[in-house]
Amino acid sequence: MLADKDRIFTNVYGFQDWGLKAAQARGDWDNTKALIERGNEAIIEEMKASGLRGRGGAGFPTGLKWSFMPKESKDGRPSFLVINADESEPGSCKDREIIRHDPHKLVEGALIAGFAMRARAAYIYIRGEYIREAETLQKAIDEAYDAGFIGKNASGTGYDFDVFMHRGAGAYICGEETAMIESLEGKKGQPRLKPPFPAGAGLYGCPTTVNNVESIAVVPTILRRGASWFSSFGREGNHGTKLFQISGHVEKPCVVEEAMSIPFEELIEKHCGGIRGGWDNLLAVIPGGSSVPLVPAEQIRQAPMDFDGLKELGSGLGTAAVIVMDKSTDIVRAISRLSYFYKHESCGQCTPCREGTGWMWRMMERLRTGDAAIEEIDMLHEVTKQVEGHTICALGDAAAWPIQGLIRHFRPELEKRIHEHNAQFAEAAE
Ligand code: NAD
Ligand code: SF4
Repeated sequence: MLADKDRIFTNVYGFQDWGLKAAQARGDWDNTKALIERGNEAIIEEMKASGLRGRGGAGFPTGLKWSFMPKESKDGRPSFLVINADESEPGSCKDREIIRHDPHKLVEGALIAGFAMRARAAYIYIRGEYIREAETLQKAIDEAYDAGFIGKNASGTGYDFDVFMHRGAGAYICGEETAMIESLEGKKGQPRLKPPFPAGAGLYGCPTTVNNVESIAVVPTILRRGASWFSSFGREGNHGTKLFQISGHVEKPCVVEEAMSIPFEELIEKHCGGIRGGWDNLLAVIPGGSSVPLVPAEQIRQAPMDFDGLKELGSGLGTAAVIVMDKSTDIVRAISRLSYFYKHESCGQCTPCREGTGWMWRMMERLRTGDAAIEEIDMLHEVTKQVEGHTICALGDAAAWPIQGLIRHFRPELEKRIHEHNAQFAEAAE
């Protein structure tokens, strides 16, 4: 179990004040100038050495992403950092805890990351529903301005850096980085084709890096404690500490910072008081937020909770939003509900997603009630394959994968429903 002294987010439960004075007492904004004076390249190298992979779900190496930003401004164009606080993945709630209880880690991280990638300003795009969190974040930004930590001559470094907060309006798709950029520009939030990646052409056509809240908030601590300290947790390719968000059928759902690669069973026993009704009552787990396939009980127990370990099981770490389902769960209904979510949130820009999410949801509803033909299971699988990989953004894949996971692991349950429904129908007809 991660020792308290190794926790980055020491106020994640809000037992202490989030304000500037209390944050400074916890070590935030402690000689930030010295961290910045290490220089852009040294900071980026330290981040690469730490092994930090993006905490928003995709796990792209953070230091590497920063290194894509131009070293010199072309045609006087500024560079920007965009921080993705549009946390909307079902099951995910870690960025909310950072913003409401430890916002200065995020603001200080924004300054350091922005400096490293030579950005003129950071835009924090916060989910519209996070009303109180937005209030707290704005106050923290104001406190940092008043203290001279950001703004002109930020932290006495001679570097000018602004931080702006922008509130979303409730669209899940605006969490996709290029849709977020469109939305910041005042347009309809619809994803752009990649490449070009934002580092080439991002906000207002300028070089931009989009990073998740947690990825940015851990930066100051990594620099203070060193890349080797951070990379000592987890295993090769999966380093560091991570905020896990465990919901569903455990005794005590929680958000907890743990070492990457902790086995699932240890995570649940140590922090959640075990599975409701005991381990024999576990049915399945969605380990990384609704966009990754479920893993059945018998496979997840000893699995390392990291990018590679869960990929080997045909799933993923995603945002580390761990949704635990016991045997009382109607698993077909649960996945059908997710299908409805993706159908509802599709931006409608590309045909396979716009039409496919509707198809998939309607077929899932038929399978939920059993009012379907057996062949429709394979037909549904085929539809998911037509959507997967054929869309502009990852929402199409995210809609397809949970269904593929259901068919892979719970086909007998789907067949049973159809047989039972047909038997009832035949009985009624007699
Ligand atoms: P992605 O793999 O396309 O990109 C990840 C990041 O790496 C992006 O910033 C992208 O610009 C960068 N990148 C990738 N390849 C690059 C290259 N060749 N050159 C330069 N930059 C490159 O994934 P994505 O579509 O950004 O994110 C998908 C993930 O988002 C899913 O895994 C899902 O778990 C997660 N997600 C999270 C939430 C949330 O609430 N946090 C919501 C929905 C989805
Ligand atoms: Fe929009 Fe879906 Fe296409 Fe993404 S995959 S751009 S959400 S229609």
